Order: sequence, then C-alpha cells, then structure tokens
Amino acid sequence: MRGLAIFLAVLIVAPTLVTAEQNWPGEPVDNHLYMSWAALTQEVNTWADDNPDIVELSSIGQSFLGKDLWMVVLSDWSMETKSDGSAKEIIYIDGGHHGNEYLGTALAWLTAKWYINEWNAQNAEAIGVLQSTELHILIMLNPDGNDFDTRHNQNLTTAANPFASEPVPTGIDLNRNYDHFWDDCSPSDPFAPGTGPFSEPETRANANYMNTAVQDADLYVTMHTGVWIMLYPWGKWPQQPPDWELFHGIREEVNAGISDIPIQNANQGLYPNCGTSRDYGYGVMGFPTFTFETDDDQFLPGTFEDVNQRLGEELDVMRYLIDNIWYWRARLVVESFSLVDEKVTFTVNNLGRASTQNATLQYVDGNKILWESDNFTANASSTTTITSDGFDFEDGEWRLSYQKRVVHSSQWVNESVDVGNYEVGFFAQSLETLVWALQAGAIPLFVIGFAFWWSREEKPFDLEEIPLEAEILD
Ligand SMILES: [Zn+2]
Repeated sequence: MRGLAIFLAVLIVAPTLVTAEQNWPGEPVDNHLYMSWAALTQEVNTWADDNPDIVELSSIGQSFLGKDLWMVVLSDWSMETKSDGSAKEIIYIDGGHHGNEYLGTALAWLTAKWYINEWNAQNAEAIGVLQSTELHILIMLNPDGNDFDTRHNQNLTTAANPFASEPVPTGIDLNRNYDHFWDDCSPSDPFAPGTGPFSEPETRANANYMNTAVQDADLYVTMHTGVWIMLYPWGKWPQQPPDWELFHGIREEVNAGISDIPIQNANQGLYPNCGTSRDYGYGVMGFPTFTFETDDDQFLPGTFEDVNQRLGEELDVMRYLIDNIWYWRARLVVESFSLVDEKVTFTVNNLGRASTQNATLQYVDGNKILWESDNFTANASSTTTITSDGFDFEDGEWRLSYQKRVVHSSQWVNESVDVGNYEVGFFAQSLETLVWALQAGAIPLFVIGFAFWWSREEKPFDLEEIPLEAEILD
C-alpha cells in the first residue's frame, strides 16, 4: 500500500522530480528525501573530478561497517594564502551524526554544493569566500545509520542503556560519544553513549580530524534534524558559555535580517545533553560552535519541493556565518603606542566580535620574551588603553599574544605588530633631553629676540633707552 502511495506521489510530482534530480542525489522514501551513502560517494567524487581547482576529497576514516567518511574541502587552491599573504580562515561543518536525520545531512550537502555551483557561476560572494577561506565539510558521519534509517550507528555489540538489565543492542548514539563530560548528564542519559568516550570509529575519526586538520577553525557547525533551532554551548550546563557575547551578537544579527530561527544555549533550548560534538567542539577545541537543527517537515507527496528551496533560509544563515568568519574571534590591532621613561602606553582595538582575556603586548627576541605588558582584557569591538613600565630593551620585535576567545580551550595567537617609530636607549634619551632643553629654551630665546627687536624699533612707548648688559660689559 505504501509502495502504491509512493508510486502515485511520484507520478504526481514527476515533472518536479526531473529537475530536482539534477540537484539532489537522493530518492523520496516515505516522506523523506533520502540520500544513500553510495549516491553520496558518487556525488562527491564527481565534485572532485569536475572541480579540481576548488575541491579536495579524502576519506578520514571508516564507519563501524567500513564505509568511507568523505571529507570535502573547498577553497581556491591556486592561492595558498589570502591575497594579503595571511592564512586562510578555516570553517568546519559536519552532518549526519544521526542516520535518520536527512534534512540536517542535506544542509551540509547543500552548503558544499552552493559554493561549488556559485564558484562556477562566477558569483563574487562565492569567489571571495573560497579565496579567503577553507571550508571543510563532512556530509555524512554515520553512513551505517543512514543505510538502516536509524539514529545510532551499527555497533550492535553494546547495550543501548548500560542501566538496563538486558542488553538492548541498538547501536551507539554518536552524538553522546565525545570526550567532553561523557555520559555525565543526570538523570542517566537515555541514549546510548557507548562503552567510553570515543569508543566508536566515527567519532574518533571526526575528533582526530578536528585535532589535526582544523585546530584553527573559527566556526564549527554540526547539522541535525528535529526542532527548528540553532543551539550554542553548553548542552551540559544551563549557564551561558564564556563567549556568550559572540553567540548573542550572532543571534541578534541573524534574527534581525536573515531568519527568525531560535538561537539558544543547548541545555535550555533543547534538553541537557553530554558528550556531544558541540560541547566537545567548544569545550575542548575552542571553536565557536552551533548545532544547526533543521525541522523535520519534508516533501509530503504532492508538495515536493526542491531541497535548495526547502533549505533556502537555513542556507542563508550558513552563508552569513561563513561570509563573516573573520569576526568570530578577537582581532587585536595596536592603534597607538608611546614610550616615556621606560613606561609603555598603548591602545589596542579589538576588531573581532569575541572578547579576549589574558592578552599581553610582548617584546621578543625569537621566542624569548624580553618584556611583556600587564595582562589585559579586550572586549569585543572596543578599544582598551594599557600602561606598563620597566621597558628598557633593544633589538627585539613586538607581538601581541592573546586567546582568540574567552573560553579556556581557545587557541592562542602570537601576532607580530608594528607599533610605529619610537626611540629608546641612552642616545635616544639624550636626544629627548636635548629636544626638551631646546623647547624649554625657546621661551627665553623668544624674550631675547623680542628685546633685540624692541631695541631696534622706534619706541612706541617712548621709554628711556637702557643699555643692554653686553654694552655695559664693553
Ligand atoms: Zn541529531
């Protein structure tokens, strides 16, 4: 009966399907568009074959049943760095932790596909992004679950719930298997977190990639399906994360101009959850992380919609997050600098949308720190002025050392800075004294000059001529 319904539905929507198939390598199954791992494998290989200038394809590991986990990396490979010589920004995206969450997986697929299509259409936005950014996209982390239409992977050797008296082998919930407060939510997690953190090959491969290829990422989005919402950390705690300011700022901008999608702390917006890739991404890797949950309303027979249209709004949010990647960390620049009596005074402007703590201005010789300023905090999008003394060094270089974001796990950056010209040392100080003496001397000189002029002019006040001291000495 269901077969007949699908057959009828396909007949009804056949004209649409013909167009849609060019975009989407999947088939409608029940009420869902479903993309098999085999179809995905074919698709991503075609992407790489047809677009060697921007697509790099690799397998970062295998699923429990041995299927390749495909990583698509997009960037303009004719440029090793940005046009100004600085390193490209890095973005990490994954989809399909949960095998039966098709639309979330589709959003990861669509994000990659949009940049490939638009690059080929010479869209300025796509070109700008790919010349300045590496987009690392793992579309399907759980191909076994996807094949079997289940949330979990296909490791059936472990009981779903260790507290159940009888083992119920239903596979492992990969998004409870990460090494961040693993299985530490109370009451005991109703899901299947595995026998220990990273017990599953899929999560091990994902974490390994995070730790070796994209440690410097300034955005991590992990895509799911369920309630239409974007969740930022934490799942473990109801409290706002240290970088709440960054997340709230993004929420304001998304909600003001792009989408009404709710954006909340995961623990409050959904329910407490532990060992997730989101909390790992933020709490261990220090990435600004979002779980992007699409809703689950899909393609009812007769209402078939192209996936590009169906996820158009979600894609707009992704493009905003990607276009603005430069802002998702602290970005300090020195705006003014002075050195007086071994006292350094400088003003830094934080151009990023994330605050930073424990920042210092350092004077270094190679890796040896000769001098550093007091620690300072630089709030997002604001300037801060710091004065620190004890500077009496030469032949070094200046650099700023700070965390990209407030969270402890955040990466540190050591960036060379040009503080402009300044003088230091004995000669410079002598020079300074000389300048001071000349400036101080300018007033008596002026008085003498005036007196000289006065002596040569007709006396407007008809004063009696008084001989100058020099004349008396004569
Ligand atoms: Zn999910």
